Amino acid sequence: MSDRSLLMIPGPIELEPTVTQVLAEKQRGHLDPRFMAAFSRALKRLRDVFLTTTAQPFVVAGSGTLAMELAVANVIEPGDAVLVVNTGYFSDRLALILERYGAQVTHVRAEPGEVPEVSAVKKVLASGRFKALTVTHVDTSTGVLAPVEALAALAREHGALSLVDGVCSVGAEALRMDAWNVDVALTASQKALGAPPGLAVLLASPRAMTAWRERKKPVPSLYLDFGEWLPVHQAYEAERPSYFATPPVQLVSALDASLGQLLVEGMDARFARHVKLAQAFRAGMRALGLTFLPARDEVMAHALSAVRYPSGVDAALVKAIAQQGVTVAGGLHPQLKGTYFRVGHMGAVSGNDVLAAVGAVERALAQTGAAKDVGAGVAAAERALR
Ligand code: PMP
Repeated sequence: MSDRSLLMIPGPIELEPTVTQVLAEKQRGHLDPRFMAAFSRALKRLRDVFLTTTAQPFVVAGSGTLAMELAVANVIEPGDAVLVVNTGYFSDRLALILERYGAQVTHVRAEPGEVPEVSAVKKVLASGRFKALTVTHVDTSTGVLAPVEALAALAREHGALSLVDGVCSVGAEALRMDAWNVDVALTASQKALGAPPGLAVLLASPRAMTAWRERKKPVPSLYLDFGEWLPVHQAYEAERPSYFATPPVQLVSALDASLGQLLVEGMDARFARHVKLAQAFRAGMRALGLTFLPARDEVMAHALSAVRYPSGVDAALVKAIAQQGVTVAGGLHPQLKGTYFRVGHMGAVSGNDVLAAVGAVERALAQTGAAKDVGAGVAAAERALR
């Protein structure tokens, strides 16, 4: 039986055929001129995607967690004070990494589904000397979107570096690295960048690079050290041979292809499409009487939606939705895990995909008796798409 199921989890996401084709190409060496050209293009394209002309891109084999560790290992030193704007599971992970590297972490937390008040962050920032402030742009565990522009501005005002975990945002949510003075923005290949899992992606501003250069002690991990990767990335960008550790040739080539497509759409058009598709998906859910984990519209991400199960429905719904041909994800936040499910609508997702997802949720709910008016969800999503 053919597998026509639609993958709509918050990463990895469906790949475009042009990206899949690249993965099936003949194996090339890491110093093949065609690969050097692809790596060079990918690095330049990353600057365009992150909306920066000045940041240094790094692309290293690993997942998003490695990108987080790359940021911390290079920019933070033992004893540095770091403020974590904590919106959930992935902010906690960043704090764990910071603590492993000896940082003194202060959390400003919000209830699950909310973001901390900017004024509360400001108060804490003003109360001490922080080397950095970290933000999880979209907390994938709750679908909450943090106000990166305002928080990065605060960090700059208080002489702290801003580190943004954009694993679930870059390529979907508006993130303007230069205009917003973001110092480190990181992501992974498998989310809204539209490539397979396996690449940690990080862009470091000149200020972040200076913080690394002015370290008192060497970076404790060789594999993570900007000092090893910088010459390699500079060489690849100039299409010159260089080696530190073998790059995943297929993945970097796939990333290049995906970024090329993404930039044809244009970043502003892409951000606007994600807003529209998120609104359409949520209109569909609302028409079914469903509610969301994020507390307010203003804190809802556009890359994914976190939808609460209606009363009498549990995590078995995820399986029922899969039986209707759409793969979605269960809850992830430790305290709320069994109360909601998550649907990714990021990357090359179309209005058709959103309708398919709404329809699958609706039919699955109908099986449980929780959806009375079958068709109401799809009709509402259709209206929102028009
Ligand atoms: N940060 C965020 C916001 C994420 O969504 C994820 C992955 N879901 C990560 C970090 C970790 O990325 P990975 O699973 O690729 O290590």
